[in-house]
Amino acid sequence: MTKVPLHFVTSRVTISKSRRDLFDPRHSLAEKFTFLIGASGILDRVEEGDQVAIKTHFGDRGTTKAIRSLYVRRLALAIADKGAHPFVTETTGLGMRYPRSFGTGRLEIAKENGFTAETCAAPLVIADGLKGIDGVRVEVAGVALKEVYVARAIAEADHVVSLAHFKGHALGGFGGALKNIGVGCVAKPTKFAIHLEEDLPVIDPERCSDCDVCSKLCPTGAIGKDHTIDAGRCVRCLGCAESCPEHAVHVTWSSAERTSVKMVDAAKAVLDLLGPERFTYVNVLLDVTPQCDCIPHSDNALVPDLGILAGADPLAIDRASLDLVNACPPAPSSALDKKIREDTFGEVYRTSTKAHPRFQLQAARTLALGNPSYEIVVHDPFKEGADS
Ligand code: SF4
Ligand code: SF4
Repeated sequence: MTKVPLHFVTSRVTISKSRRDLFDPRHSLAEKFTFLIGASGILDRVEEGDQVAIKTHFGDRGTTKAIRSLYVRRLALAIADKGAHPFVTETTGLGMRYPRSFGTGRLEIAKENGFTAETCAAPLVIADGLKGIDGVRVEVAGVALKEVYVARAIAEADHVVSLAHFKGHALGGFGGALKNIGVGCVAKPTKFAIHLEEDLPVIDPERCSDCDVCSKLCPTGAIGKDHTIDAGRCVRCLGCAESCPEHAVHVTWSSAERTSVKMVDAAKAVLDLLGPERFTYVNVLLDVTPQCDCIPHSDNALVPDLGILAGADPLAIDRASLDLVNACPPAPSSALDKKIREDTFGEVYRTSTKAHPRFQLQAARTLALGNPSYEIVVHDPFKEGADS
């Protein structure tokens, strides 16, 4: 099988014995990343005038280990250097209650976590709109999903660069390129379909106290006076189930395996809509936390920092990222302290959600979303003659 080239810079810094290079900027990982962008060719297809989405994750309120805005900035500047128009984008989370679930709240959190138009050198756009329901419907031959709502700003972009923080995920096993596309580039109705088993929330009349919290919050007026849900108007935002004080709105969460399969189905739809050649990928292997950045805390990293990978294949880059993480010793004072090390995320979720990375990887192979065979080209700006 042909091996997909992936490009890597390490976060490790080795200062020469003479220490004359102590202040050399080429030791900086931000500088190495700028070098990697050029050496990997991830922007080679970008042309003057293109609208280029940098799809990243701003983190939730309280998250401290999402990607630093400095890397977003370096990527935006490289895109602008080509005469193209970068924008930094993210979608809203499921629900309608918390700031992370709507556009204005998402932007507030972004600012709090250091992502602004000034720090990122590009405007911030919430790709699925104010309430997260602005999407373009796409039919997809997925294993479980047959339709997907691709977030509007992603659907209209000329190119998408996935800038993913590589880390664990309670249902996907891990979050990398596939999840950044499959979950991060879709509007709420598809996030609902990925995470839940029903087509629609159901209100239990026995538990309902007629408080009207849900109908006031519903973005489409889908909940009638009798507190039944109109399937034609409901956009599947999950706001009613999340907010009901009586827990009278029933939904069933999907298993980790089903969620992983549906994430990858959705990724296929996003890639099909624009064409896979319009996507490239960066996985940042720093602060590899057990949980996704959508959780409002960041635990200690599971393994030491590794560096940054870039390439054009979402399956190859996720597989390589996992292999790099699994080859590391577990970090002391982490959720993996003293545990087995060859199956990092599988071990983290073994006794809870039973999430495992193989579910996403197998689903991506089934749908031919990429090549699991890769070779890593390690770049060193010193050896490759970058300007100091
Ligand atoms: S929020 Fe819950 S209790 Fe209140 S009206 Fe809606 S379903 Fe009934
Ligand atoms: S009825 Fe549908 S659209 Fe309305 S809040 Fe519930 S999930 Fe959202």
